[in-house]
Amino acid sequence: MRKSLLKITSVVLGAAREFLARQGFVELLPVILAPVTDPLRHTTDRALVKAYGREWHLTRSMIFHKQAAVRLWPRIFSFSPNIRLEPAERGRTGRHLFEFVQLDLEMREASREQVMELGEQLLLFIFKQVEEECSQELAELGRSLPPLNPPFPRITYQQAQQEYGPEFEGPLSRAASTPIWVVDFPLQAREFYDREDPTRPGILLDMDLIYPQGFGEALSGGEREHQPERIRKRILAQGLSLRAYRPLLSLAEEGLPPSAGFGIGIERLVRFIAGVDHVREVRLFPRVPGEVSLL
Ligand code: AMP
Ligand code: MG
Repeated sequence: MRKSLLKITSVVLGAAREFLARQGFVELLPVILAPVTDPLRHTTDRALVKAYGREWHLTRSMIFHKQAAVRLWPRIFSFSPNIRLEPAERGRTGRHLFEFVQLDLEMREASREQVMELGEQLLLFIFKQVEEECSQELAELGRSLPPLNPPFPRITYQQAQQEYGPEFEGPLSRAASTPIWVVDFPLQAREFYDREDPTRPGILLDMDLIYPQGFGEALSGGEREHQPERIRKRILAQGLSLRAYRPLLSLAEEGLPPSAGFGIGIERLVRFIAGVDHVREVRLFPRVPGEVSLL
């Protein structure tokens, strides 16, 4: 890892904290071990730790903790370390680590529109702070930041597939000159907690942000299912077991507020800002799928 990337990462974390504090957010300490975690059906093996006569998941995202936390405070975030045992081939994508950090945030009673706007303003603030505080580091890296002009353009999942093919992330990102939102994923493409649009069955009120210049996905988020009967239906529709999600269902029966939020990968954000090839360069002790580490 280069010194310049260490400094930029530190400025990014500080800027994000400052921006979110000004917007009324409080920071939660992260959860590492959990009885239940993000299902992420398509991507990863489960990482489990046995302790006290039961199994604990290493957190893949704090989605359910965020939904629980907004009962207490309307705007929350955490720098959440995630373990995802990605397939070894993903070690070469430039975008995947098996331990990474998400800035994971959630807003009670918020709409998708509101979290998208917040995401745009957050990036703008971080970019300004990096430009002010890291001009020397950016020069060393030969990087000039692409301009950000919110609101970012939008494309639906369906349009993205039509224009760029079923695996649109790469081609769309390479074609883009500004970050671009992909909205309205179909139900089967995502996890059960993304909220289905009540007026358009089968379409979710969710989104991804894609970086330009080929850097790929920046963040994923959306509005959440919060009513117990809807959560139950969605879990079953994905062939998952209700028993595995009992902790979430009990919380929902007690009452979860509606909320929306997103998670943005820190290593990918710094990779984009610094214009480096691989997220491994953003960590002093990178965990690259398929590779061993000395420390
Ligand atoms: P997800 O909810 O799966 O979209 O994850 C949220 C964000 O975390 C993504 O948009 C990425 O920025 C980041 N992310 C997800 N998986 C990885 C990974 N294996 N390595 C690094 N960053 C990741
Ligand atoms: Mg995603």
